[in-house]
Amino acid sequence: MNARIDAAVAACGRTSRPTLIVVSKYFPVEDVRLLASLGVKDFGENRDQEASAKAAAAADASLRWHFIGQLQSNKARSVVSYASSVHSVDRVSLVGALQKAKAAEIERQREKALSQRERPETLDCFVQVNLSGDESGGRGGADPANVLELAERIDAAANLRLAGVMAVAPLGGSARDAFGQLAGISAEVVARYPGATAVSAGMSGDLEEAVEAGATHLRVGSDVLGARPGVG
Ligand SMILES: *Cc1c(COP(=O)(O)O)cnc(C)c1O
Repeated sequence: MNARIDAAVAACGRTSRPTLIVVSKYFPVEDVRLLASLGVKDFGENRDQEASAKAAAAADASLRWHFIGQLQSNKARSVVSYASSVHSVDRVSLVGALQKAKAAEIERQREKALSQRERPETLDCFVQVNLSGDESGGRGGADPANVLELAERIDAAANLRLAGVMAVAPLGGSARDAFGQLAGISAEVVARYPGATAVSAGMSGDLEEAVEAGATHLRVGSDVLGARPGVG
């Protein structure tokens, strides 16, 4: 996987290398531990129940957990207890729920006097953009027209940090076109919020296109871990 990323970076003449997030959904925590022993620090999960169990089971490994799936507001409390970032912020109500949950989590940790070095005061948030061009959401995310409003809400929240944007390329469409569109949206966000430079894009099937379009975070599952047990 690292060779594949290096080749993609070299092919388009980039000087910066994106962060690899290994998507460990459906795989047991033993696989997470094995990858951690090989130096992987960033893991992605898309369901709270599974993610919280794995994060607890690997709590000693000081890993960064990225929440990448559709998130119900009532799960925000749990997600902020282990995740360092949420890549799937797609609506204003979720921004409110995450801010409230993160503030409560910080308070809870103060009472327990946990180390602030291990537990930052802000949660990194990515605005997930729907690139499928239909209202129904396709593979999730906010309508491109609503991205700046969501960015503004995240930026205004005391315990959230606007990291940037995220997208999943639409099924059947051109990943290059989709990630090109995402790069344009990212540029609009960065023009207003200069620190929000992160672009989370690229999975096993379209990593090269994402690297070429400037992705800073890749979310790769099956090409590292193999086919997911029990799913396609
Ligand atoms: C599962 C998943 C991935 C990883 O997909 P692979 O094709 O296995 O690399 C990336 N992003 C999201 C949002 C996912 O749900």
